[in-house]
Amino acid sequence: MTLQGAKQLIKQWTDSDHRWITVPVTIAALFVLFVLFKSCQGIAYSFTNECRIYRLGYPIDQARTLAAVLSDEQADSFVVRGEYDSIAYPLLSERYFIAKNFDRYLAYHKIDTTLTALNDIVAVVNVGHDLDREASAVPCDISKGQLMLVNGRHYLDENYKPDSLVAFQRTYCYEEQRALGAVVQAFLTMQQECKKQTDAHLMVNSAYRSYKQQIGTYKRNEKGYAARPGGSEHQTGLAIDVTSLQHPMRWSFDTSKEGVWMREHCHEYGFILRYPKKHAQVMGYNYEPWHLRYVGKETAKRVHDEDITFDEYYAYYIENPHAKALR
Ligand SMILES: [Zn+2]
Repeated sequence: MTLQGAKQLIKQWTDSDHRWITVPVTIAALFVLFVLFKSCQGIAYSFTNECRIYRLGYPIDQARTLAAVLSDEQADSFVVRGEYDSIAYPLLSERYFIAKNFDRYLAYHKIDTTLTALNDIVAVVNVGHDLDREASAVPCDISKGQLMLVNGRHYLDENYKPDSLVAFQRTYCYEEQRALGAVVQAFLTMQQECKKQTDAHLMVNSAYRSYKQQIGTYKRNEKGYAARPGGSEHQTGLAIDVTSLQHPMRWSFDTSKEGVWMREHCHEYGFILRYPKKHAQVMGYNYEPWHLRYVGKETAKRVHDEDITFDEYYAYYIENPHAKALR
């Protein structure tokens, strides 16, 4: 049929006695189309993550937010578990929330009933303490330079040795100690200021230790106070153990005037207290008031100001720099 023919047909119809029926038929047809369209929309919506999470018992706004944050895979396993979890939504607002760890946060919360604070759960999972240490161990990423992470799960190779080690002046150590140049310089500046403020003379008890030396240290040390070979920061040349001439014993240094000063000010020189007392229990390490780790001033300030451990800093800012909690 030509266009002309079609126009002719419509004209005949609208001119005819049936014209009165055109409007209601059109309205009815549109209504049927609208109902069909809405039905299809409804069926499609019922398959969305938002709707599936909503059906677990979450208010619609929470379901929408959870659906937006979780990947399809995470949403699937979340829905498959088929139960409402009271911490699921509040977790999203945690300061150091990392979306890819969502399932592990929920799982860890169920396993460890002693930890109830969400920030503690997030911290433990972010640093991998919920995982089997041996099975989840990975080589230390030495490309991170002064921000490399060495701990029970991030191991240095037995052949790893820092490029250029510099000796501390012997007035600051009982026997020869070496570390990276930036560390030696930062220690000197810190020690001078400490002397001014407290009149105490800081001393480096231990700095760089090779993998082989760490084997000896590990065997000799009281249980828990020495890392296993490959898992010690001392092998990086970035860690130093500090006490003072006035308080050479580690635990008397802890409560000494200079020990307190060092904890409060070491970040100003690029150091962090690597194993602070406040986080020891949750993070599963022993408090070491003498062990400083050099990370540079910018990172040291952030770790200090945000009151987190370096492991948490590394997990959030270095490994997952795009993780953003909903705040
Ligand atoms: Zn140490």
